[in-house]
Amino acid sequence: MSSRDISELHPVVRAKCEAHMKACAAAGMPIRITATYRSVAEQNALYAQGRSKPGKIVTNAKGGTSYHNFRLAYDGVPEKLLALDNWGDNKKDQAVANAAWALYGKLAKEQGLEWGGEWRTIKDRPHCQWTGGLTLAQLIQGAKIPGDTRMA
Ligand SMILES: [Zn+2]
Repeated sequence: MSSRDISELHPVVRAKCEAHMKACAAAGMPIRITATYRSVAEQNALYAQGRSKPGKIVTNAKGGTSYHNFRLAYDGVPEKLLALDNWGDNKKDQAVANAAWALYGKLAKEQGLEWGGEWRTIKDRPHCQWTGGLTLAQLIQGAKIPGDTRMA
């Protein structure tokens, strides 16, 4: 399990997350945050899903190689999709879900966030991240973004 607490995010990302939540609510589409910080062990457990463990593959990132591990990413979902089968990722609800995610992604990008819905390999529509201009390789080597002493 990942944390769902936005205070676990780097303060810059937390501020962007709060602005994203506000913008979605103002557009009549409140969102819920489902994941923020994830430890390396939690990331490894998620990576195992669909590989060595049952379930659907949801990430290509092993422990230590996700922006969640560095407090720079969060996942959210439009609340109205929560009641739908597979969060609307099914034939019947596809149009509603696509429209909701498109708005979610647009409003995330307006906060300067990268949106996983535009990734080419595994589309990750809940995922939003801010890298501070740092690559994962730089973060793994210990680069820090000022403002958060908890950065791994
Ligand atoms: Zn994510």
